[in-house]
Amino acid sequence: MSYSKDFTVAICGGGLCGLACAVALSRAGISVTVFEASSFSQEAGAGVGLGPNAVRALKGLGIFDAILARSDQPEPIPRLFGFVSAKDPHDSIFSYETKCDHPVALAIYRPAFLDAVVELLDPSIIRFGKRCTSINVSKDGKHVMHFADSTTHETDLIIGADGIRSVARRFVIGELAKDPLIYPNTAAYRGLVPTEDLRRAGVQTELTGRPLCFLGLDKHMICFPIKGATVINIVVFLSDYDKPPQSELPYPWVESVSQEELKEHCKDWGHDPKIILDHLKNPSKWSIHALDPLQNYVRDKVVLVGDASHAMLPHLGAGAGQGFEDVFVLVQLLTHPRTEKSNLSNVLARYNDVRPPRANDVLRASARAGRLYDSFRTPEQDKTRLQTKLSGIWEDVWSYDLHKDVTTSFETLHRLHVF
Ligand SMILES: Cc1cc2nc3c(=O)[nH]c(=O)nc-3n(C[C@H](O)[C@H](O)[C@H](O)COP(=O)(O)OP(=O)(O)OC[C@H]3O[C@@H](n4cnc5c(N)ncnc54)[C@H](O)[C@@H]3O)c2cc1C
Repeated sequence: MSYSKDFTVAICGGGLCGLACAVALSRAGISVTVFEASSFSQEAGAGVGLGPNAVRALKGLGIFDAILARSDQPEPIPRLFGFVSAKDPHDSIFSYETKCDHPVALAIYRPAFLDAVVELLDPSIIRFGKRCTSINVSKDGKHVMHFADSTTHETDLIIGADGIRSVARRFVIGELAKDPLIYPNTAAYRGLVPTEDLRRAGVQTELTGRPLCFLGLDKHMICFPIKGATVINIVVFLSDYDKPPQSELPYPWVESVSQEELKEHCKDWGHDPKIILDHLKNPSKWSIHALDPLQNYVRDKVVLVGDASHAMLPHLGAGAGQGFEDVFVLVQLLTHPRTEKSNLSNVLARYNDVRPPRANDVLRASARAGRLYDSFRTPEQDKTRLQTKLSGIWEDVWSYDLHKDVTTSFETLHRLHVF
């Protein structure tokens, strides 16, 4: 088989970003292989919300239509949050408005996303059940992936798309460096509830029109309508801001918990959240992890994308979108007609110029957003302050000009006579 480039690519991790990257690179005729630790049958069925910037990146990668077809939405639609008090009588605090040109979003189940993208790939490209345990560089400059089954794979370039507990990140930051993964003392309790059950039980707040955030002190609850608004996806976030972020990580990360535990935490809330929590029958508790910002996403010819490089608190629903932005920029750089094995280091350096500052801005903004939601006491004390501070929180995330970063990168490569 003949390929368009004189280098080979291995992708470590076939999650949202790894598979999106594999489709775009293989369509451009690049030799690419994906090594995925799990089999898809083990996939957790969490939902993921994709904002306007994520939608643009996926369109740019040429995979948006396939993903849309697997979602339960006929088309991407605006999803602007409303914020209400969790206490009675659930005063409206703020309704988000945006200046973003096309503020459309898509909500999709993670397994549906993966199915849609796998179908676009030649099956021989993905190797399941291949858990990478380490990466090193051989004497002749090849990058070697070592797997749990004692096999190895040699390649010119490794894309580390292996998520929050990334092995590729260990190579990029150096074996001796402290891992930047932290537990920021935030837990998310999640579950799904049929909308009709809530209506019948007397919930008055309108939950089907737009995503809603019930605001409280050190906690908030997101209600996100899915499946044509017949089901509400509920996530309650509880945070302890008195403790510093911990590098000792809780285990397990995800566990089933009793409904009583959650209701006890939220006993000061009002009528509607209490009914919603009564209906959250088998909540799962996720200890949310995040990274301290990494300054470099590249070392040698190993480059990080997605959560491997910038796993963040989910308070702006922006984590996957940053991963798709990474993939879009990387694909533009790698598929450029002048990119070849001999200039890969220079090309990757341009990725490293533009992606860490952008993704780390969003990572920090996500943490700030959570603190803001969790700072609400009463409308009298906090409504005006929150209206001011919540105004515009998504604008920088959604309206970012990714093409400018790509153009700047190409200009730099021309100026340096690499291209
Ligand atoms: C509660 C919660 C809500 C969220 N909501 C949103 C949201 O609404 N919108 C949004 O944009 N983001 C959201 N996110 C974040 C989003 O889920 C992640 O940013 C996204 O999944 C990252 O994609 P990824 O491809 O980098 O990693 P993943 O999708 O995690 O994929 C990593 C892949 O690598 C594989 N892997 C791991 N280790 C190895 C190894 N050693 N060798 C080989 N393969 C390996 C894994 O099996 C997995 O398939 C949320 C996160 C949480 C926790």
